[in-house]
Amino acid sequence: MSVTKWVYAFGGGSSEGDASQRELLGGKGANLAEMAKLGLPVPPGFTITTAVCVAYYENNKAYPAELDAQIDAALKNLESVTGKAFGDPANPLLVSVRSGARASMPGMMDTVLNLGLNDETAEGLAKLSGDKRFAYDSYRRFIQMYSDVVLDLDHSIFEEILETFKEENDYSLDTELSADDWVVIVDEYKRAAADELGRDFPTDPREQLQGAIGAVFDSWMTARAIKYRELHDIPENWGTAVNVQAMVFGNMGETSATGVAFTRDPSTGRNSYYGEFLINAQGEDVVAGIRTPQCLTQEMREEMGDTQPSMQEALPDSYNELAAVFDVLERHYRDMQDIEFTVERGRLWMLQTRNGKRTAKAALKIAVDMAESGLITEEEAVMRVDPAQLDQLLHPTIADDAKRDVLATGLPASPGAAAGVVVFDSDEAELRAKKGEPVILVRIETSPEDIHGMHAAQGIVTARGGMTSHAAVVARGMGRPCVSGAGGIRIDYAAKQFTAGGRTVKEGDFVTIDGSTGEVLAGAIDMIKPELSGDFGRLMEWADKVRRMKVRTNAETPADVQTAKDFGAEGIGLCRTEHMFFDADRIAAVREMILSDDKDGRVAALVKILPMQRADFESIFEIMEERPCTIRLLDPPLHEFLPHTEEDVHAVAEATGLSAALLMQRAEALSESNPMLGHRGCRLGITFPEIYEMQARAIFEAQVNVEKKTGIKPVAEVMIPLVATAKELSILKAAVAKIADEVASESGTVPVYLIGTMIELPRAALRADDIAVEAEFFSFGTNDLTQTTFGLSRDDAGKFMPDYIAQGIFEKDPFVTLDQSGVGDLVRIAAERGRATRPGLKLGICGEHGGDPASIHFCDSVGLDYVSCSPYRVPIARLAAAQAALKARG
Ligand code: ADP
Ligand code: MG
Ligand code: MG
Repeated sequence: MSVTKWVYAFGGGSSEGDASQRELLGGKGANLAEMAKLGLPVPPGFTITTAVCVAYYENNKAYPAELDAQIDAALKNLESVTGKAFGDPANPLLVSVRSGARASMPGMMDTVLNLGLNDETAEGLAKLSGDKRFAYDSYRRFIQMYSDVVLDLDHSIFEEILETFKEENDYSLDTELSADDWVVIVDEYKRAAADELGRDFPTDPREQLQGAIGAVFDSWMTARAIKYRELHDIPENWGTAVNVQAMVFGNMGETSATGVAFTRDPSTGRNSYYGEFLINAQGEDVVAGIRTPQCLTQEMREEMGDTQPSMQEALPDSYNELAAVFDVLERHYRDMQDIEFTVERGRLWMLQTRNGKRTAKAALKIAVDMAESGLITEEEAVMRVDPAQLDQLLHPTIADDAKRDVLATGLPASPGAAAGVVVFDSDEAELRAKKGEPVILVRIETSPEDIHGMHAAQGIVTARGGMTSHAAVVARGMGRPCVSGAGGIRIDYAAKQFTAGGRTVKEGDFVTIDGSTGEVLAGAIDMIKPELSGDFGRLMEWADKVRRMKVRTNAETPADVQTAKDFGAEGIGLCRTEHMFFDADRIAAVREMILSDDKDGRVAALVKILPMQRADFESIFEIMEERPCTIRLLDPPLHEFLPHTEEDVHAVAEATGLSAALLMQRAEALSESNPMLGHRGCRLGITFPEIYEMQARAIFEAQVNVEKKTGIKPVAEVMIPLVATAKELSILKAAVAKIADEVASESGTVPVYLIGTMIELPRAALRADDIAVEAEFFSFGTNDLTQTTFGLSRDDAGKFMPDYIAQGIFEKDPFVTLDQSGVGDLVRIAAERGRATRPGLKLGICGEHGGDPASIHFCDSVGLDYVSCSPYRVPIARLAAAQAALKARG
């Protein structure tokens, strides 16, 4: 029977593992092995595998039988490679013990340095190095670290000892302590530790090592680590590895140093080295903030106006060696590296490398630069940028160095930043915006009646509501920055002001909102415009070359349609005509239509609406030229358009000649107990055919007019919503087609059009084969399909969604990321059955999922022809579609 290998050695000219063994060796261990293989200067050591961790927990915290012997053998090997011996006062081997999971994981055990020190080896180290101060500085660090992370003692006892000592001796800096001072401190540390422990601080190096290894494995199950895994979807059975590595010392005087670096600037992506270091320091000193670190390069030092010399200036030889290592690592890993290093008496040692984390801006620049220099292919560059991260680059953002005076914090509901004057009312927002004033609409919550105000506003704040509240969903759709659920804001509509944190903001005062962080800030803050050409343009070009699916947009106003086209939309996937009804100068006619009690009254009102709708479509067709435009006929229940105030009722009464009392009665009659499942969508078309007839006429006449004016042949895809049966569609299709024929014969121009349906009811998905007999295209309305599949109202889900996510009933909010197994099955079934009836049936998605990268991958896998999303998500969808296509190719 073969024995499992639990321990892998690295360094000293060879390695038993390499970078491909990340799962077994953890990220740190795999990369240490790889660097050693590349011949880079890595202190030798060994990695105890993640499999040990898994076995440890599977066997009631017992180690595999062969482990001890394998560790002893690895230690022996390490001793022979370094020429030192564990516990040998004449030439002591010291090691670090470092945790290292597959994915970098804060929350795990902190590294222990200088392990192997005791009174004898410390004295030996002092003699050997000729630097007693260094030896006892290392020793006191070890006692403190080991006590803290392995023995679980409160580190404040050590800090107190040191502080008291410094006070008594009038020292302010640790560097002022002499060798003999550290000897005293070490003594006090040991005594304090023993007092706390009730036994002596461990002096046997092998026992120290055993303790540290156990502490790493135990840290896998700390509350901190469990929480982190939960938040980042890291499975428990991945386990962590332990790295035991010979120490090198950055605290051996003025030619020694320790530092961290990136091979490129991780915030801008600029191709220049970036990092910090400290002379005569060890481990985490650089990030601990005890001393101010120095810049890596002269360029960086000059840019920052720093007076301390850079590493390039202070330790030029080691710097040049380090720069050469950077180049080797970047060429080898073909990505920007995040590095930890130490210089011991002029000799460089590499302690860690990994692919560096970076901002969206840097990710884009690095991917494009690397592809242009030939280091990676264009396709790899496309895979390197996270589409979701791209969102940050498409909106104005607050300048990094701007001062943020935070009034209140809510949810980051829709990204980007905006500044403007506060208004509390949608009509007021529209009024001020028309005068050219930038406004921020502040509401307790928003409703469909606020659409025009939200549109007019630069940004939206609500005091109530979550990430899927009306405000959040609509703002994302419009590309408006939004902070929702800013609970610290108290709005007083009557006084036209809000208070937050004891401060009062009045209508007309400037605020700035950051929809990416959820902050509401006082005053107008400087903004940076998004850069859409340059690197962004190049990456999009490469993405477009490889993607299969088209990308369209959900838009209805000329401004949004234009934005989407500028972002590369190849058509409109959803033009919601009801938004066009809410306009202040139209709503009167719309109400008149709804409230008339006979067909003649409705037709009279519709005659007034027709030219307005036609004009809307004309401007959309002019922008979209010959790109296909899917226009959805009226969908919401009529009562959404009803007058609410007495004033409104009287206005309608005047226009129609009907009494206010009668109007109220009609309004009452329209109310429904379950409007989402009520008289809406094609059901309106069935009972009030004149509404769809008017809309169809507006579409076709607009096409004809645009063609006559410009020679462009607009392409309309007329979409009938909420179809459940083939019969509904066949009745309405005939009615629409009849209008097309009429317009053609009246004008002498034949409009180019298709008639299709939205698939948003489970029955429609299941009977897609019948429906495809009539439908010339399907568009998956996955918002409603999700609602109707789950029997779950999006508007009310906020109350229990957090519990559902917390308890793991829903992995993700199904309104944000498509539920691929349930709703997705219906999409797959409908696509298959629809295409069985009508091969080549055009398929798309127009729910909010069309802009979600994970959902876009799904759409690609079931063969949809296009996805459609809000204008600002078009580039995200282009990139995600490209990645889906590349993945499908394998
Ligand atoms: P983290 O995962 O928190 O970065 P590391 O295991 O990388 O922890 O250790 C932190 C720091 O400790 C390293 O950046 C390095 O400065 C120092 N360190 C770790 N091992 C050694 C070693 N063998 N010799 C010298 N310094 C070390
Ligand atoms: Mg590290
Ligand atoms: Mg719908």
